[in-house]
Amino acid sequence: MENFLLGKGAIKVGFTTLETLKGGPPGSDIKYVLPEAQSAISYALPLNRELIRPYLKKEPNSRYNHEKDRFDLTMKAYDISKEVAELLRRKDFEAFPVMSNFKYRKELEDWKYELPPDISLRYLAVRGGVGLFGWSGNLGLKGYGPNLELGAIVTSAKLKPTDPLPESESFCNQCKVCVKVCALRTFDNQEEVEIKIGGYTFTHAKKIDKGRCHLVCGGYSGLDITGEWSTWSPGRYEQPKTKREALESLIRAQKNWFKLPKRDDFKSYDYKEIEEKHEVPFIGNKTVKLGDYLIFTCGHCQIVCWGNPKETNENYRLLQNSGCVVQKEDGTIVVLPPEEAKKTFDALDPEHRKLYH
Ligand code: SF4
Ligand code: SF4
Repeated sequence: MENFLLGKGAIKVGFTTLETLKGGPPGSDIKYVLPEAQSAISYALPLNRELIRPYLKKEPNSRYNHEKDRFDLTMKAYDISKEVAELLRRKDFEAFPVMSNFKYRKELEDWKYELPPDISLRYLAVRGGVGLFGWSGNLGLKGYGPNLELGAIVTSAKLKPTDPLPESESFCNQCKVCVKVCALRTFDNQEEVEIKIGGYTFTHAKKIDKGRCHLVCGGYSGLDITGEWSTWSPGRYEQPKTKREALESLIRAQKNWFKLPKRDDFKSYDYKEIEEKHEVPFIGNKTVKLGDYLIFTCGHCQIVCWGNPKETNENYRLLQNSGCVVQKEDGTIVVLPPEEAKKTFDALDPEHRKLYH
């Protein structure tokens, strides 16, 4: 199975079992998706790094190019997992291919805020030795950082587990650049959380409030709290200090979202299986098409870090000098130096301007 996955482009493969996942958080409960589950296979696929710096610099077309790479890789991971599941079924095992995003435990009351996945790909992968957590909580490898997409298959086959990677294999030097590239500062700079899985303890930064990421990674907001740069989003929401403030901003942002003019850099994707079978993604109660309304504009904590301090600092420098995005009344996206962007924003039609903050 490992060779099959490596042949499909995986750069690391790992195995976990009921025993090695024992005592883990709910996301590591493989029986949730397959009652007969005994083991899980995890793997990592690399993002196309050549598309990352143009995206961080806000070069023309780079937003769409990087977005497409991500969406395609998500679909590729799901397709590979489905193939592996089919191979296992042919050997009379039960198998469940885990969707590499967009699938949540919808029975939980607060699921739309917490977005708990059916299976946490990160937990399976970290315990199975596919990678280690960086400060941001993204899973990465030396030489790649966290520029990875994860995939997994849960199965009734009893597979031989693999150990977590040793700390000496960590790609993270605790530089905390990932804290600073998050426009509304989702990650705590000091406080850690511990995750115990199968006799091992893993740590990463505490998330101050997921609502901060929902606002930015959801594409609603993009202006950094310094006002010096933005993501690819033209939104200018203030940093929420509490969950209540985050919820108020999110409700406002979701109402505004459908009134926004269509961006001139949007692209629709035809990923019918995700959109019809899993009925996601969603905004509020509406299911929306990837790329059409769900637009990829951030991902910084994952892509700025290259697991090499010199390269990571250069990525941060590029982002800091990349300017700020403003959307004109006709939908056009412009990228301007921070002061000019502010003037342009302030000069927008007031009815249009109020859709961004
Ligand atoms: S940017 Fe990368 S190396 Fe630096 S603290 Fe964050 S995860 Fe670690
Ligand atoms: S994806 Fe963007 S908004 Fe979300 S935590 Fe990472 S840097 Fe912050």
